[in-house]
Amino acid sequence: MRFDIMTLFTSLVETVLSESIIGRARASGLIEIHTHDIRDFSENKHRRVDDTPYGGGMGMLMSPVPIYNCYRSILESMADKPDCKRRVIYMSPKGSVLTQDKARELLGYDNLVILCGHYEGVDQRIIDEIVDEEISIGDYVLTGGELPACILVDSVSRMIEGVLSDKECYENESIASGLLEYPQYTRPYEFNGRKVPDVLLSGHHENIEKWRKEQALLLTKEKRPDLLSDNRKEQTDLG
Ligand code: SAM
Repeated sequence: MRFDIMTLFTSLVETVLSESIIGRARASGLIEIHTHDIRDFSENKHRRVDDTPYGGGMGMLMSPVPIYNCYRSILESMADKPDCKRRVIYMSPKGSVLTQDKARELLGYDNLVILCGHYEGVDQRIIDEIVDEEISIGDYVLTGGELPACILVDSVSRMIEGVLSDKECYENESIASGLLEYPQYTRPYEFNGRKVPDVLLSGHHENIEKWRKEQALLLTKEKRPDLLSDNRKEQTDLG
């Protein structure tokens, strides 16, 4: 999959998406991430990309023109792939909140073009002109769309075959499984007087599995009871 990120802060995005698992997935060609500096497409000699909002009000708004020019250049760079299945996303607190199901749905595209807003956001006309969908990463407001874009790229990329060592790594996790994950332990056996639960040392796989399911259900009931009442309930049947 190819991601194209339109931003005013390419180095912020590059720093986050060059490390660890995502960095390795890029290096091995499993995913392609291209960052585009919207300022490079400004028609202003001072590379200005923002202006005051019509009608007055606080702050500055990103002009539609440089964003549109940036978007056109991305399309031109992919002119040899006319059948590419593309989705243009604006990271925005006004969007629908990102979920695991949404990340899974986005796996169905070949190219995600992601627009990061800044300041007071972007001129509505660029949203109307190029954006297919607005996505929020939660009900709070950040200074820019760069971190949200990185979160979106990460959540989708880790489900691409080969990025993690095994499908099981993400299918049995919190949320994706329909429950929160059971508690996990590693060495040392005893830490500050806290021991690893005996069942995990028993070698009895059936009992370990049963304990993990019970713990997952208990944790979910305690911390996220909403997960048990939605339509993922069937997947969590402990039988
Ligand atoms: N004035 C806008 C509003 O009230 O909806 C908020 C603009 S915010 C300060 C600047 C940019 O940060 C937005 O254009 C968006 O790209 C990004 N942003 C902020 N919060 C976000 C969130 N929860 N999810 C996704 N993007 C967000």
